[in-house]
Amino acid sequence: MVPWLRSRRLWGAVGAAVVLMAAGVYLARRSAERRPYKRADFLLGTFVEITAYGPRAEEGVERAFAAMREVERLADPRREGSDLYRLNQNAGRNPVELDSRTIRLLALARTWHARSGGAFDVTVAPLVRAWGFDPEGTPRLPEPRAIAAARALVGGNDLVVDARRKTAFLRRPGMAVDLGAVAKGYAVDQAYAALRKAGVASALINGGGSSIRVLGSPPDRDLWRIGLAHPRSDGRAFLAVLLLKPGQSVGTSADNQRFFTAGGRRYSHIINPATGYPADEAILFSVVGRTAVLTDLLSTACFVRGPADGLELARSTGTEALVYTSARKIKSTPGLRAEDMAP
Ligand code: AMP
Ligand code: MG
Repeated sequence: MVPWLRSRRLWGAVGAAVVLMAAGVYLARRSAERRPYKRADFLLGTFVEITAYGPRAEEGVERAFAAMREVERLADPRREGSDLYRLNQNAGRNPVELDSRTIRLLALARTWHARSGGAFDVTVAPLVRAWGFDPEGTPRLPEPRAIAAARALVGGNDLVVDARRKTAFLRRPGMAVDLGAVAKGYAVDQAYAALRKAGVASALINGGGSSIRVLGSPPDRDLWRIGLAHPRSDGRAFLAVLLLKPGQSVGTSADNQRFFTAGGRRYSHIINPATGYPADEAILFSVVGRTAVLTDLLSTACFVRGPADGLELARSTGTEALVYTSARKIKSTPGLRAEDMAP
């Protein structure tokens, strides 16, 4: 063997170079995994932003947006021929055959109408319209007569869902369904499933700040830190920072998303079907739970029920919740994981 091949110094240097190269490759991969792929798009009436990490991020995000667009296509009541359009058009006439995703969503809405004691009611659409909170409307104080007339057309028990036949039916003419309180959460779950299926291991799906779900853990941490925008700001950015475990979701309903003031009072877009008036005992209600569809519909239901009943509804459902009451106090379920709570 030639003398230099036997040199220990040389082999030592080669060894060190190999180790350094391996470390370089490893670090480059780590930083690629930590560098997020981000995309935002206007969807279901709000900005949805997805942040994903890892080599499959871009493809996963594209597929996630496609899945969300599908939900938007089904649930838009204004688009002629959409599932919701046909359901509403045929109110009081006949059942209509719908996509299995729409049926699932409507069946879930029926279940939670009952479990929330009627607080959550997707047949609230005539009231939403009477108050001008529909996308074409101008929010304003309606005449008491108009509220009574709209209230007579609301009733979750008259939404009939036949899961086997995949049909749904609104029993009375003039009734209509509005999925504004739940479609975004459902879409976020569809995005979550698409990201997972594409092989993405870490991502944050943010539906306009009001419906969020996380996939896996963030880079270099166990939990995701989600800031809840302060609904009255007062110079503070966040009302609280919630900690989410892999797969968890947070849904938020608040009175600053759509509202108007009249006679010194604030009227917001979440309506108590029992009174026909906007619910006003809470400023903000956030619910943390397993899926985005659940936390979206529960945050609306809890907002209507008010602080004490709402927290109890969340707790009894196996979710955690935080409420910012009209008296400007923060209350939460005992198991909620949060930081920096400042009313
Ligand atoms: P969210 O921001 O998720 O609480 O949803 C609020 C939207 O749901 C409103 O803009 C209405 O379109 C609709 N909505 C209002 N009140 C109710 C209610 N009591 N049950 C179900 N949906 C409602
Ligand atoms: Mg909701």
